[in-house]
Amino acid sequence: MRCLRCNHELEPGQKSVALYMFAQTVGIKPRQKSAAHRISFCPQCSVSLAMGPPPEGALNTAAWDMIRDLVGSDPALNRAAWENLSGILGLLPATGTDATPRSAPAGSYIEF
Ligand SMILES: [Zn+2]
Repeated sequence: MRCLRCNHELEPGQKSVALYMFAQTVGIKPRQKSAAHRISFCPQCSVSLAMGPPPEGALNTAAWDMIRDLVGSDPALNRAAWENLSGILGLLPATGTDATPRSAPAGSYIEF
C-alpha cells in the first residue's frame, strides 16, 4: 500500500487515511457492483491536502471534503503527521556536530 499523493510506502497498521470506493448500479436489473478500491494517504499528505485549496474535479473535491472532515474534527491525525515529521527531523544530523550518517529505518525516508 502506498500513499496516493507522495507514493510513500505504508506498512500494515501504519497510521494513514483510507478511502474506499466502489460503483453500483441503481434501478437497473440486475444490480451490478464494481470491485471496491482502497486509496490511502499518509497523515502528512492528509493534513497538507486538508489545509490546501480545493482540488479540481468533482470526485477530487468530494474526497477532499471527507479528508477535511477528519483533519478538522480531531487533532489525532494532525498529531500523527507531526510525529512522522519530527521522527524524520530527528534523523538529520545536528549542525556543528559530527555528520556521521545514521541509517534510517526502512521506509522512513522522503524523496524530493
Ligand atoms: Zn503521502
